[in-house]
Amino acid sequence: MKLIKKMARVGRECVACGCCASVCPRDAIQILYGIAAQVDASRCVGCGRCAKTCPAGVIEMIEWSNEK
Ligand code: SF4
Ligand code: SF4
Repeated sequence: MKLIKKMARVGRECVACGCCASVCPRDAIQILYGIAAQVDASRCVGCGRCAKTCPAGVIEMIEWSNEK
């Protein structure tokens, strides 16, 4: 079944500060290798808290689908 929802997407300019991960209510963000934030699509509920918090402004809220 096709599922569409809002999800956070992290841009390449991420500076790995971790602010987004600290405010995520679903623990959906990990800082990979201390280099960049990565969002787990299965956990993100699209609340937008991370995007509002990011000091670099690199998180965009997108429409996510489980089908291409
Ligand atoms: S808050 Fe922004 S800059 Fe910091 S780790 Fe998250 S996405 Fe990267
Ligand atoms: S949109 Fe909400 S649930 Fe998704 S990663 Fe950001 S803070 Fe977490």
